[in-house]
Amino acid sequence: MEQEKKPVERAKWKKQILAYLYDFIEQPSVSDSDAEHLGAEWLQETLKKQPYFQVQPDFCGSYEIPGDYRKRSIVYGLVKGVTGTATGQPERTLILTGHYDVVGIEEYGALKPLAFQVEKLTEAMKDAQLDEESRADLESGEWLFGRGTADMKGGLCAGLAVLGQVGEEILEGTFNGQVNVLFMAVPDEESYSAGMRGAAGLLQNLRKKYNLIYECLLCLEPNSRDQAGQKQSVYIGSVGKCMPVALVQGLKAHVGTCFQGINAVSVLSRFLLKTEVSPQFADVYKGEMCVPPTWLYLKDQKELYDVSLPYRACGYINMLQFDTTPEQVMEQLKAMAQEAFVDVIGAMQASCREIAQKAGQQPDLSRIPRVDRCRVLEFSQLQALCREKDETGFAAYYEKQYEEIRRKIQSGEWNYPQATVEMMKRVLDFADLTEPVMILGFAPPFYPAFHSDRLPGKTGAGSTYFEKLQSVAIQAGTRLQRYHYFTGISDLSYCGSCAEYDHTKYYDNTPLWGDLYRVDFEGISALNIPSILFGPWGKNLHQRTERVHIKSLTEETPETLWAFINTL
Ligand SMILES: [Zn+2]
Repeated sequence: MEQEKKPVERAKWKKQILAYLYDFIEQPSVSDSDAEHLGAEWLQETLKKQPYFQVQPDFCGSYEIPGDYRKRSIVYGLVKGVTGTATGQPERTLILTGHYDVVGIEEYGALKPLAFQVEKLTEAMKDAQLDEESRADLESGEWLFGRGTADMKGGLCAGLAVLGQVGEEILEGTFNGQVNVLFMAVPDEESYSAGMRGAAGLLQNLRKKYNLIYECLLCLEPNSRDQAGQKQSVYIGSVGKCMPVALVQGLKAHVGTCFQGINAVSVLSRFLLKTEVSPQFADVYKGEMCVPPTWLYLKDQKELYDVSLPYRACGYINMLQFDTTPEQVMEQLKAMAQEAFVDVIGAMQASCREIAQKAGQQPDLSRIPRVDRCRVLEFSQLQALCREKDETGFAAYYEKQYEEIRRKIQSGEWNYPQATVEMMKRVLDFADLTEPVMILGFAPPFYPAFHSDRLPGKTGAGSTYFEKLQSVAIQAGTRLQRYHYFTGISDLSYCGSCAEYDHTKYYDNTPLWGDLYRVDFEGISALNIPSILFGPWGKNLHQRTERVHIKSLTEETPETLWAFINTL
C-alpha cells in the first residue's frame, strides 16, 4: 500500500507546493512592515481550504501577538493524528514552523517589480547580470528565483503540503503515524522576532487546550549544501546574540587645552579596539567556533561643528554566544571599559612628557584628568543613581521619555539600537553626572543561545531526532550533516532555555525593556522543545539571486518530512 501511494503523493506534492509557492511569494510580506499582514491572511485562507480544516475549522486559526503595535499574528493549524485523550495521556505533537516575513527587495534594481513573481523573475534573470554559479543554476532549470523562495516561504509551502496530506489521511482513516502535527508560521523573524517571542504564549495555550506534549520542532528554514550539492547542513542549535551599547561621556575642553579634557571619541575608539573581533568573547563548542564581536555602529554625538572635544560618543556591538551569558558579557566589558580610560589618560601623559622634552621643559601633568575620576556604570547602576536623587521625579521622567521613544519607533523614525542610545543619553542627563563616564547597556534584539542536546532533562535529544531525520532523508535522496550551532541567528533561540542565569541582569540593563521589547523567559523555559533547522536547499538568501532548488523543495523535503512524521 505504502509503495503504491508514493508516486501519487510525489506528483501531487510537487504541483501543490509550486502552486502554493507562486501564490505565497506574491504576498509581499516584507519584515517589520504592514504588508506582513498579507502573508498571514494568505496562510489563514490556505489552511481553511484544506479538507481537514473544512471538517475541523476550530483546529486552525491565528493568534494576535500580545502587545505588538503592528498587531501581527501567528497562524497555526493542528491536525490530530492521535487520540490520546481517551487514556488521558498527552498527545505527542510535532511542530512544523517558520517565518512568513521576508527581507526587502532594494537590491533587485530594475527587476524590483518582478521580485515577488517567481516564474516571471526566473525568466527575466536570463537577461540579468549574474555571477557564474547563479548563471549555471539558472541555466540548469533546477532552481526557482524570487524573494522568499528560499528564505523561507518554500519551506513553509512544503510544510503546508505535508500537513494537508496528513489531514486527508486522518479523514480517510489511513494515517499510520502516531503523532499530531502542528503547523505554525510567525512574522518578524528578519527584524526583531516578535513572532517567535510571542509564540510561547500560543504554544502554551494549545498545549493546555488540547492536552499536547511537544515532541520535537522542525524549523523549515533553508539549508545550504557542500560545493558538490551533496551534503546538506542541518543544525540542532542556534547561536545566542546580545547587543551591548556603550555611551561615553568625556570631559569637555577647548582643543587648545586638550590635555585638560577627555575626548569621548578617543575613549570609545580604544574600547572598540579591545573588543572588535576579540577572541576572548568567541565561545567554542565541540570544535565549532562562535563568531567574535563586531561593532555595528560608532559615532560622536556632536550636533554642530565647533573646536571643543566631543563630549559624548556611542556605539553598539553585535555579540554572539554559545555559552556566555549577558551577565558575563557585561562583566568582561566593564573591565575593558575601565582599561580604555586608563589607556587614554596614559597616552595623554606620555604625549605631554614627550612634547615637554622636545621643548626642553618640565612636563606639567597636573592638569590631565585623573583615572580615578572616570567611572564605568551599568545602565541599571545609572538608574539607581537617578532614583537616589529623586525617585518619583525619575519615574515620571522615564515614563515620559519612554512614551516619546515609543512614538519615534512606531513611526519608523528610530530603530531599537538608536532608541536605546537616546534613552541612555536622557537618563544620563537626568543623573547630571559631570565626571567622565562610560554607560553600558543592551539594545534589542536578544537571542538566547539554544542547543537541542543541552536542554535541561533532555540531554542528547536533538541528536536523537537528528539521527531519525538523517535516516529518512537518505531514503528521500538527501544526505544530511549535523552541525551544533547555526551562527546566522534564528528563531530556534526561543524554543527553549539551555542556561540557568539571572535574567534580571539582562533586562535591568536594557533601557527599552517593557512594552516596546520583551523576551518571555519563563514561557520559553516552559517549552524546552528539541528543535532542528531543516528545510529545502537554498542559496544566496537576502540577495537578488535568492533561489530554491526545485527537487529539494518539492520532493526531497516533503518526503523527508512525511517519513519523519511516520517514524515518531
Ligand atoms: Zn529565514
